[in-house]
Amino acid sequence: MRVALVPSRIPGVDYVINPYIGCGFGCKFCYASYMARAVGRRPQEWGSFTLPKSHLLSALVRQLRKPWHFYGKYVLIGSATDPYQPLEARVGLTREVLRIILKLAPNLRVGLLTRSSLVLRDVPLLRQLKADVGISVSVLRDAYFREVEPKSPPLRVRLNVLRMLKEAGLEPYVFLAPIFPDTLDVLGEVLGELKDIGVQVRYAELLSPFKNPNLRTLRAFPRWVRLIREGGLYAEFYETLRAHYPEVEVIRHGWS
Ligand code: SF4
Repeated sequence: MRVALVPSRIPGVDYVINPYIGCGFGCKFCYASYMARAVGRRPQEWGSFTLPKSHLLSALVRQLRKPWHFYGKYVLIGSATDPYQPLEARVGLTREVLRIILKLAPNLRVGLLTRSSLVLRDVPLLRQLKADVGISVSVLRDAYFREVEPKSPPLRVRLNVLRMLKEAGLEPYVFLAPIFPDTLDVLGEVLGELKDIGVQVRYAELLSPFKNPNLRTLRAFPRWVRLIREGGLYAEFYETLRAHYPEVEVIRHGWS
């Protein structure tokens, strides 16, 4: 039987819900691109299709008929797709998921991770759910941004989203993902801005160059790989991160 809440192996996350297969943002580094195979596509096609899960809402209602199974559990919405990607503005699947949880299992702890300003649409629901909202921010040079993230909102928009979520009474966190290898100065600037806004950086993930074949098509790819392989980068990035956010959890993917 198909389910909406899928048990998770992510530390601290009991279940995940992914309302879509695919993601219209099509980030070239996306680690979920392997999911394309689940619908007969190639990872190289990641970003060219988004399929709403037609069974999702009925499956969620069915699972939440026994809400005591989920009491106090943490569900992350959007572990393999962005829950607020372009199609969500029309389809509203993520919003329906939030409404159903609020009605049937308000004690489920809801977390969301997104790159999109569309999350602001659902602030009233997110406040009622006391949702744990994360905004993903990549750290890379402006010159590469549109090549690497062809359709997602730029850094300035995401910083503004963080400000607005805070003003709305939520306490959003930041997931710096990914951090590119030639960006130590950019990282310092971004961290300074996040400090000014007053948000926590909970996780920081250093670029893993081989998890998405689309990265290989980018002009800077050989340089990024060379820099990572030369080594010696990790200590500097780690120190910079920890100087601003001593509690940050760093995912390093073999950087030395
Ligand atoms: S927004 Fe997230 S899920 Fe979508 S392509 Fe980018 S990294 Fe992948």
